[in-house]
Amino acid sequence: MDIQGLNVDLHCHSTVSDGWLSPEEVVGRAHRNGADLLALTDHDELGGLAAAGATAAALGLGFVPGVEISVSFAGETIHIVGLGIDPANAALRGGLQQVRSGRDARARVMAEELARVGIRGALEGARRFARNPNLVGRAHFARHMVAIGLMPDVKTVFDHYLVRGKPGFVEHEWAVLEDAVGWIRAAGGVAVVAHPARYRLSSANMQRLFERFVAAGGEAVEVVSGAHNDDETRRFAHTARVHGLLASRASDFHGDTESPVDVGRCPPLPPDLVPVWSRLIPS
Ligand code: AMP
Ligand code: MN
Ligand code: MN
Ligand code: MN
Repeated sequence: MDIQGLNVDLHCHSTVSDGWLSPEEVVGRAHRNGADLLALTDHDELGGLAAAGATAAALGLGFVPGVEISVSFAGETIHIVGLGIDPANAALRGGLQQVRSGRDARARVMAEELARVGIRGALEGARRFARNPNLVGRAHFARHMVAIGLMPDVKTVFDHYLVRGKPGFVEHEWAVLEDAVGWIRAAGGVAVVAHPARYRLSSANMQRLFERFVAAGGEAVEVVSGAHNDDETRRFAHTARVHGLLASRASDFHGDTESPVDVGRCPPLPPDLVPVWSRLIPS
């Protein structure tokens, strides 16, 4: 089969992190949208993979177990996707457990910061949107702030709150880049830099990110992402060529109203790039 021509989506979320749909629902939606191969990549969590994999098998949809790991790098939060990981791997499980463990305290401080600008009850509100109590994140706070009529939509919340310099932002130490790549590799997976255009890094730090990522054994970059426009896709296609990285194609779908690209509806990769799924499916 022509693997370039497959409909592939290697990044999406379920209710196990900050997606709106259950693992079964997001797999079903990808299938209806014509996907041939899908990875579920919840933030710092593996809890949806068994259900998603079973649903995909029943539908005849190719499934790649994945995860999206939160990393701190040069004062920014960076996301590293792991694809084709073994969800039973102890190093990966232990690492993710450690990454998740700070979320509860962070959520409490976020709520305190929001209370200082007059937004009370945000922790309880965010928790109502979080199906997984171990994974309360900014998206859940944002949804609560939309629900109470403070802001028209989640995107507008992030223009005014929850980001550096705005109320409700809390500095947090996530994983170290080399550790995250190491856990993914220990679990037999391929590490991918997620949505690189979204990071506010100087060009020197962006260069360092890719150098350290490659030195740690990272192998791929999201060139096509629901978070990239066409210029950004071209820019990171160049990065893939320069660093000899495999290219990924990813919606980063969270739900109907929050994602510009639906799951299973990603544009194709630039044709000269080597797709990361060449490493994920037996030829
Ligand atoms: P957290 O891991 O709790 O810091 O939350 C990160 C998540 O917040 C991302 O994966 C997105 O789901 C959401 N998010 C962050 N920034 C934005 C933004 N500008 N617009 C919409 N969602 C965002
Ligand atoms: Mn998210
Ligand atoms: Mn991300
Ligand atoms: Mn994501």
